[in-house]
Amino acid sequence: MEKYVVVIGGVLSGIGKGIATASIGRILTEYGYKTTAIKIDPYINYDAGTLRPTEHGEVWVTNDGGEIDQDLGSYERFIGIDIPKSNNITTGQIYKTIIDRERQGEYLGKTVQFIPHIPDEIKRRIRVSAKDYDITLIEIGGTVGDYENIPFLFAIKGIEREIGKENMVYVLITFLPIPSHIGEMKTKPTQQAIKLLQENGIIPDIILCRGREPLDDVRRQKIETYANIKRDFVISAPDIELVYDVPINFEHENLGKKIMDKLCLPHKEKPNWTEWQTSIERIKNPNASVKVGICGKYVDIGDFSLKDAYISINESLLHAGAKLGIKPKICWIDSKDVEQKGAEIIKEYDSIIIPGGFGATGIEGKILTIQYVREHNIPFLGLCLGMQLAAVEYARNVANLKEAHSTEVDEHTPYPICSLLPSQKKLLQDSLYGATMRLGAYAAYLEPGTKVYDLYKQEGRIEKDMQKSLSPERLGYMAYKEDRTEYIIERHRHRYEVTPKYEELLASKGIIFSGHHYRSDGVKLAEFLELPGHTFFVATQSHPEFMSRFLNPAPLFLGLLKAAI
Ligand code: GLN
Repeated sequence: MEKYVVVIGGVLSGIGKGIATASIGRILTEYGYKTTAIKIDPYINYDAGTLRPTEHGEVWVTNDGGEIDQDLGSYERFIGIDIPKSNNITTGQIYKTIIDRERQGEYLGKTVQFIPHIPDEIKRRIRVSAKDYDITLIEIGGTVGDYENIPFLFAIKGIEREIGKENMVYVLITFLPIPSHIGEMKTKPTQQAIKLLQENGIIPDIILCRGREPLDDVRRQKIETYANIKRDFVISAPDIELVYDVPINFEHENLGKKIMDKLCLPHKEKPNWTEWQTSIERIKNPNASVKVGICGKYVDIGDFSLKDAYISINESLLHAGAKLGIKPKICWIDSKDVEQKGAEIIKEYDSIIIPGGFGATGIEGKILTIQYVREHNIPFLGLCLGMQLAAVEYARNVANLKEAHSTEVDEHTPYPICSLLPSQKKLLQDSLYGATMRLGAYAAYLEPGTKVYDLYKQEGRIEKDMQKSLSPERLGYMAYKEDRTEYIIERHRHRYEVTPKYEELLASKGIIFSGHHYRSDGVKLAEFLELPGHTFFVATQSHPEFMSRFLNPAPLFLGLLKAAI
């Protein structure tokens, strides 16, 4: 029988529901259970692919090419598993499926209604995702009381009825404010959130109390009395310095055992947190620190700067730093600033990352930054757009093709160093923007003897059996080369590529293309480049930040930090 842990928010959003879910996932995995997690996003968008990063944070990319909510990234980073795109369920997907079915006549003339058709489709999707796992976490986006959550809560109640309450645990994550004029932690909003949840027929089994301070006994007692939840199940979750502390803190209150008991599951294995704790220790007491400048465009929104737009890069640096005992001090550089103030402002950084991005804004600032780091031997990592612009910069300033560009920014450049493959051109002509980029896991053969190869080799990321690591569908994208066995897998999200015919020219001027994806139609695409003689000048067309895990950092981020130190 499937077992579920449903995580629901009360009072406020943005209080760390995703991290709490990911942490519970990690804890249950430590106890020996095969655990996965589903995120429900009640918005009408089909997926997060067309959402601006300043709107909803970073778009997370899965192996199977999903463009989904960033919370799924936290699940993967904490639990250490690859999660498929079907684990992000949106209202848009549910309605689209039902309307498509109706148009195809599948309902045989019956009235298609909110109940039962909507909750039935939600239930079906949840149960498909849960199929191969011992425990499935379900995080419901938004907050209890939101209209758009109702069908999902109703569906979950339906699953509970079908499988029995002993297979379902409800966790309410709530917020306890401390109004500054009274200086006391208030439980009233939590009491109301519990009440709202009860209107949906759900009584929380466990309450996670987020707040600036830990929960004291008086407040615990109050929640017990007013909400009828035993105090043992009221868990304190105060603000912490580091998200990776959360599972450890939960375990101080035996959250894992409490959940397993409620699910009638034995405590199968004894958790071993040694490696996790050591990594946390190294983050908190690093031997050294380096200043990493990330030069991007999604940096500010109104008066606030938004690090969520690049959260995976942030986390990847942290993971690499934890392994090396180095604290990466991350600074956000607005590429428009480089355009206005000049590239000299880059001087103060120990290393630079140019992350992925779309459109023309701030492009020249990024190109100036790349030129500066190349000429001043500052360690550099280019990610996706970062690699495309590294190629453009080199073409302009070393190969002397002054008007070189990517056709994404200058359609009429005489030297289209990066451009669209014909298949992508067709999609854009037909305005097919959703889920049509080169998305998800792709294999690349690496050139032995390159910096990139060495880094992947050191981290045990070189693979040899393609049949094993790629699904048949993914495998179809890759031309199998008899004479090449060593390859790596990374995730992708882009339309443009380094134009194959310019690769030779750039190589003749000194760029080493250290890895390629070979398409089954014969096209060979550049996946990695590097500059010999530079401390660290490496760029990739992929997004290695999507495969970095807390206990398994991404090779290129390790390389960057090592060079920076
Ligand atoms: N805009 C570029 C492309 O579509 C780069 C995308 C990215 O950086 N993720 O190819």
